[in-house]
Amino acid sequence: MVRVTVALVNALTPGERRGRPCPPPADPAAAAVEGLRAVYPSYREVTHGEGAALAEVAARLREVFAAVAADDLDAAATQVNTLLVETGARPVLERHDGEPWHLHFHGHHDTLADGWAASCATGLAIVLGGEFADRLGVCTAPHCDRVYVDVSRNGTRRFCSTACQNRVKTAAFRARGRAG
Ligand SMILES: [Zn+2]
Repeated sequence: MVRVTVALVNALTPGERRGRPCPPPADPAAAAVEGLRAVYPSYREVTHGEGAALAEVAARLREVFAAVAADDLDAAATQVNTLLVETGARPVLERHDGEPWHLHFHGHHDTLADGWAASCATGLAIVLGGEFADRLGVCTAPHCDRVYVDVSRNGTRRFCSTACQNRVKTAAFRARGRAG
């Protein structure tokens, strides 16, 4: 669930991406599908309204990553609790598409955006309430604010992608060259 949260935030929130400006998506529905299919490759198409609603959810989820990156776990927890209350997140066991029984999270309203808001907030709540609370992050490379969850063994991740990691390494190498 945290993977899809990361994918939705990165696909739907404006800012900067890997050194370039990242404007709000011109087509939120297409961006939402791109994010969802990054984790669920056969995810269905979404309507324009669903895409726009998911973009609003993504903006609020981003605040949780930003708060953790700023070492403000209180703000992160408060934001997650607000989302849990607003969506009325509740666990439901479901069985469909030939899968075994598995856990979903539903909201008050049976809409796509509410369902994802409930699921993503629950996923973040589980992370924030556990020993890996500090594993949510915002890329520390220059001109990038994409988010990530650090699932590495030692928990030392600082970048959204190897692309950003390499950008920073290259810049440091050039700086050393100039200094020498
Ligand atoms: Zn980055």
